[in-house]
Amino acid sequence: MYLDKIATALVKAGRSRKFGQGSVNPVIQRASSLVFDTVKDKKFATVNRARNELFYGRRGTLTHFSLQEAMVELEGGAGCALYPCGAAAVSNAILSFVVAGDHVLMSGAAYEPTQDFCNIILKDMNVSTSYYEPTIGAGIGKLVQENTKVLFLEAPSSITMEVPDIPAMVKAVRAINPNIIIMIDNTWGAGVLFKALEHDIDISIQAGTKYIVGHSDAMLGTAVSNERCWDRLQERSYLMGQMVDADTAYVAARGLRTMGIRLKQHEASSIAIATWLSKRPEVERVNHPALPSCKGHEFYRRDFHGCNGLFAFILKKRLTNDQLEEYLNNFQHFSMAYSWGGYESLILANQPEQINAIRPSGDVDFEGTLIRVHIGLESVEDLIEDLEAGFERIAE
Ligand SMILES: *Cc1c(COP(=O)(O)O)cnc(C)c1O
Repeated sequence: MYLDKIATALVKAGRSRKFGQGSVNPVIQRASSLVFDTVKDKKFATVNRARNELFYGRRGTLTHFSLQEAMVELEGGAGCALYPCGAAAVSNAILSFVVAGDHVLMSGAAYEPTQDFCNIILKDMNVSTSYYEPTIGAGIGKLVQENTKVLFLEAPSSITMEVPDIPAMVKAVRAINPNIIIMIDNTWGAGVLFKALEHDIDISIQAGTKYIVGHSDAMLGTAVSNERCWDRLQERSYLMGQMVDADTAYVAARGLRTMGIRLKQHEASSIAIATWLSKRPEVERVNHPALPSCKGHEFYRRDFHGCNGLFAFILKKRLTNDQLEEYLNNFQHFSMAYSWGGYESLILANQPEQINAIRPSGDVDFEGTLIRVHIGLESVEDLIEDLEAGFERIAE
């Protein structure tokens, strides 16, 4: 299992002695000003400011450098830019590479705020966006325009969870124009379940808020870049003022140490619960990448090193508003929240038309209510009992 193979790396990444200075964890170096004793020192820091020399707080401190080094060790690439949240990582990565007149190819099933960013901010900047079906595969080539600058992937799709054929898409786009910058929102893959840079993707973006932090108590964005895009991504993100505070960088680095065992438990528990759900008479389909009922399951098996706690299932019937309230308000262990990746279980419901509204590219292919769950680290037995009681609440 891949997570076993990288267990040591997760424990050790970014923990060289210069960052810890004797302590196991990196020091929390809070700083705006970083002082120089001599003109020579100041000059050296200025020349090397983009190469992890202490220069000024916005460029990072030892705490940030430790996290950045860890991310590069885990995901590969030339460098990792840090942002105050995942949405900032997405928008700044795109903004670092587009100019007026450019075109972006965006997943029609991308995280909703990512689509809003394209529809509102990029549009105002005269950068156009085309949305593609996540299942398009090599057909993506037909959507490449003369002015296409960025192909933006997300895998699996937000909410509906289809897994795209990423290698086919990358190959098709590279064949037409190798200069197109390919980025992925790799939050679900946590940077380790899907090794984006090994698939010829230039930039792997994460809402570190989710599995890296892992405890629902801090927000972070990361963008790990290959050599070809790193200087530009780093410099432009810096110019747009992107950085995170040292305390958050510390908390994120600490999250990495347990991320492997957390992901393994999220995976085991979510597969157990998804399998249980797939046998329930109330359930039409389970969209869990590790189950054959999920669109793109074969790509998941080929390209991913494992899964986590986030998946969706579709009920045979469409719940009424009253049923939805009765269903959602009374769980003992599942809370409602617009997030995931923490140790706790979460649940949300979406009607088909709500999903249609955020799918510029097409129609949803189901009529029942979609339930998205994040399976946390509670006992599987307790969670199944909770879900079973939920089904009883919506029985006719
Ligand atoms: C949560 C999330 C984001 C945004 O991250 P924030 O830290 O909340 O800004 C982006 N993409 C995906 C897939 C997410 O789940």
